[in-house]
Order: sequence, then C-alpha cells, then structure tokens
Amino acid sequence: KNLIVALGEVVVDFIPTVSGVSLAEAPGFVKSPGGGPANMAVAAARLGAKVSFIGKLGDDMFGHMLLDMLEQNKVSGEGILFDPEARTALSFVTLRADGEREFMIYCNPKTDLRLKPEELNLDLLRSAKVLHYGSVSLMKEPCRWAHLKAMEVAKESGALLSYDPNLRLSIWPSPEEARTRILSIWDKTDIIKISDDELEFLTGSDKIDDESAMKLWHPNLTLLLVTLGSKGSRYYTKNFRGTVDSYHVKSVDATGAGDSFIGALLSKVVHDPTILENESKLREVVKFANACGAITTTKRGAILALPTEAEILALINGA
Ligand code: ATP
Repeated sequence: KNLIVALGEVVVDFIPTVSGVSLAEAPGFVKSPGGGPANMAVAAARLGAKVSFIGKLGDDMFGHMLLDMLEQNKVSGEGILFDPEARTALSFVTLRADGEREFMIYCNPKTDLRLKPEELNLDLLRSAKVLHYGSVSLMKEPCRWAHLKAMEVAKESGALLSYDPNLRLSIWPSPEEARTRILSIWDKTDIIKISDDELEFLTGSDKIDDESAMKLWHPNLTLLLVTLGSKGSRYYTKNFRGTVDSYHVKSVDATGAGDSFIGALLSKVVHDPTILENESKLREVVKFANACGAITTTKRGAILALPTEAEILALINGA
C-alpha cells in the first residue's frame, strides 16, 4: 500500500516562447501540461512513486491529451472522468522580467470544479497511503463536497493527507473568500506546504519568520513546510524545526517548483512515514525536495522540467 493519490486540476498551461515578457508582449505560446496537483503527481511518479490522479477533464482534444500525458508519465488515470458539457481549462502563464507572475485562466464553466462526490473512485481513495490536494477544488460546489468527501474516505482508511494551497488569487471571487476557504481544511490535514507569499497572505503579516509561521501551526498537523524560493525551505513539526538551504542553479522559470518540491517529499514519505518523526531523516528528504524544486526552475514549463532521481542526486553530490 504505497499509493499516492492526487486530487484536483490538470490544465493546459500556455507559456510564452521567450522568457521575461508579459502576457501582452509574448510573441507566441507553447502548450505545457500543468495544474498544481498534476505537477505533483508527475514529479512523484518520475521519482518512482506509484501515483493515481482523481479529477475531471473536458471531453475534448486537450482533455484526452492531458490524460495521455499523465499516463505516459506513469500516473494512472483510472480516477479521471470526462465531462462532455465542459471544456478543459487553459491557463496562460508568464513570468515577467520584474519577477511577477501573470495568469489568465480560461475555464467557463471550470471542468475540474464539476466533479461530484458520487463520482469519486472510492476504491482508489481507500487504497491511498497519501492523498494530496490543493485549494482550487474547494472553490465551488459540487467539487468542494467531492474534495471534502475524498479527504474523509482517505483519512478513514489511514491515509496521510497532504495539502498545498497553491494560491491563485485571480480565480477567487475575493481575497477574503480565498483565505477562508483555504484555511477551512487546515486542521484536517497532516502535511501542509506553503510558499513564502502564501505565508504572508494567510497570516496578513509582512514577515517571513517563525513567528508568522507559528500562526499557521495547528496541533493536528504533523509537518508544516514553508518554501522560500532560492533560499530553500523551512520545516516545522511538534518537536523540531529548521531551515534547509537550496542549491544554486540557473533559474529560468519557477512554475511548478513548489509542486515538484512536495512531489519529491511525498515520494519518500510514502515509503517511510517515520521520516516525519525523525529530524535527520526529514532534513535529508527536504534537501532532496529542495534539489528537485531547484532543477524544476531550470527549464520552462512545469511538467517538462521535472527531474529524475539521478539528476537530483547529481545536483546534491555536486556532479
Ligand atoms: P510554485 O507556486 O511556482 O509551484 P512555490 O512558490 O510554491 O512554487 P518555491 O518556493 O518557488 O515554491 O520553490 C520550491 C522549492 O524549490 C524551494 O523551497 C527551493 O528549494 C527550490 N527552488 C525554487 N526556486 C529556486 C531557485 N531559484 N534556486 C534554487 N532553488 C529553488
């Protein structure tokens, strides 16, 4: 029972053919599969984990292309449904020269939010050792009910629940609603990974320090991770906390770095949950996850850039 199940959205990202331009300036775009939970799924599968995806796609060419992409990357699509009444979501995304990320998401109605609780593949959820999700699926019913039910079923069967809110403010009706919904499942999750920006957003504090991270600590949590871009990441558990530096790389596009970070971490935790209780083991795994995140930034596109174990070990060992 070493299965990771990822629940949520898989979309087609359109990324500019050149770096450092705004969406308006981009001369052209290339297709690149994306969506936080899907990126995590492929990252973990590339590192040898057994991974299944639960979600809904439009019954169109892009939807079938995404399923093929997941399966080619050894992520099982048995939990994926096709919706004939909605189109697969498209997301235009760029990193401008000033470092700001721009997103424009085309999805009306948003296919992945049409997943209903009764459509969930319960057998998959019951056999999961880890269930991983984001916050997009909490945005609207019926998908929100499906998301909450998936958490309940997996938890009852003994799975660890892993959460990366992956905040995309532009798709929420208001920042307050985003914050409330994101925090609504905080105390039901075992592992939470947030970025420094999300820490600021969720706590309303402009400091990235232990004091603000502790505002997000909950006694039901096993592990809280805060990723800090090129500065690595921080970890917090009941008994210990610390920082692990990242690696120096030539970064061109940070899209998916956080997803690949958590994918790498879960690919290890699913085989050995004692990592969560042992600081030296955890530090090794966070180091591995940092290296995975770092490599993901060296190429454009989220999924295209995800590394293998050998590439990660080469970076760690300075090869
Ligand atoms: P996203 O939302 O784009 O998926 P994120 O903001 O959640 O990403 P980051 O903090 O950018 O996540 O990156 C995750 C991890 O990847 C970091 O903790 C770090 O270890 C590694 N990383 C990211 N950017 C760099 C970089 N420029 N150089 C080295 N390591 C990096």
